[in-house]
Amino acid sequence: MWREPDHLLPRAQAERTRAFPSSAGSSVEVVICGFNLGRISCPHCGAEFAPGWWGEAVSERYYEGFSTLMVTVPCCDVETSLNELAYDWPMGFARFRIEVTYPNRAWLTDEELASLTDALGHPLRPMLVHI
Ligand SMILES: [Zn+2]
Repeated sequence: MWREPDHLLPRAQAERTRAFPSSAGSSVEVVICGFNLGRISCPHCGAEFAPGWWGEAVSERYYEGFSTLMVTVPCCDVETSLNELAYDWPMGFARFRIEVTYPNRAWLTDEELASLTDALGHPLRPMLVHI
């Protein structure tokens, strides 16, 4: 999944990595880590958000077609991107993602992540999804 949620992988790079667009095609979608999600907190002051606030903020942006991910956080009144909130475990938003199903281990090694980043020419945000 891309660090910049609006990025779309060029076709040649997608074919090299056997990557594929998100289920929504070329639009931004939320990529949730499932049961691995422990808390969502403010990247500025560290306050934990109530699940209701986050769900409502995502729903509002969804109905706008995710044309923006910017929100004003309730704890310190700072405008930030939903993609930049502190997710424990990592999750976020993307137009494109690469999935490895049942990898028999948790995370990519630093070398594997660097290799993928080099091949794609774009930074990635690794996530561990538990559904
Ligand atoms: Zn805050």
